[in-house]
Amino acid sequence: MDEPDLFTYSNTLSPPPPEKEIPLAPLSLPELEKAGEASAPAPKPKARSLVVSIHDVSPITRDITERILKQIAELGVPRVSLLVIPDHHHKGNFVDDPEFCAWLRECSGAGHEVVIHGYYHRRDQKAGESFRQKMATRYYTAGEGEFYDISGADALRIVSQARQEFRNIGLDPKGFVAPAWLLSEGADRALQRLGIGYTTRLGSVFDYHTGIHYTSQSLVWSTRSALRRLMSRFWNAHLFRRLEECPLLRIGIHPPDVQHQAVWRQIKELTARALESRTPKTYAGFLSRG
Ligand SMILES: [Zn+2]
Repeated sequence: MDEPDLFTYSNTLSPPPPEKEIPLAPLSLPELEKAGEASAPAPKPKARSLVVSIHDVSPITRDITERILKQIAELGVPRVSLLVIPDHHHKGNFVDDPEFCAWLRECSGAGHEVVIHGYYHRRDQKAGESFRQKMATRYYTAGEGEFYDISGADALRIVSQARQEFRNIGLDPKGFVAPAWLLSEGADRALQRLGIGYTTRLGSVFDYHTGIHYTSQSLVWSTRSALRRLMSRFWNAHLFRRLEECPLLRIGIHPPDVQHQAVWRQIKELTARALESRTPKTYAGFLSRG
């Protein structure tokens, strides 16, 4: 299938404002300024996209998520994708927290997108794991790869349960993102069977409906140690430059990022710079060309 031309958004251009009739009587300065504004062409929508996502949203991280939302809204990002964990580390299901559910609905009503992000997020250690499994699930993600090697049957059951829980509170998530972007093949097939609209990986966004892969490596910060934070800042600055011409730029924020000043400052700086040439969207909005 051909990739659509992501640089062409002509159908999203708004029509020019109607010509304003200027009265013949001499105009005062404020009137002249007003007339000039009305005849100025509407700003052209920026063809390239920016998707900011906040990972690991749950009742446990709600306060910090609100702080992040407020600060990035001030930068000019009015809508983001919220990756919500239904039962964060088995600490309590979100459906049992009516205040959190009301807040999620409010976020959705305000234009943010709710995305299913695993179920518990944590992957329980298994007996007899190979070196590769240990590396992927404990060292790379600190045990957070819940869907790394989950069976198709388990994924089908868990994702379908999660989706139903969101539907019960009036939300209908289109996307599923595996914790740490680690998605087993069985889970991948399960998502397709369930009619999930899309998933994202570290390096791409995949639309199950059209079969199109959008290649774009997500910017993401690791804050577990001072060395990781420093390396993250170098890496993301490099990645940002590398992705300059890419139609989609993804900025993935985790709640702890805001607690590390240099990391948070860089996230805000790169977001602000991205907004100079990109339109902020949710993943669902990006995929629907919205
Ligand atoms: Zn996560």
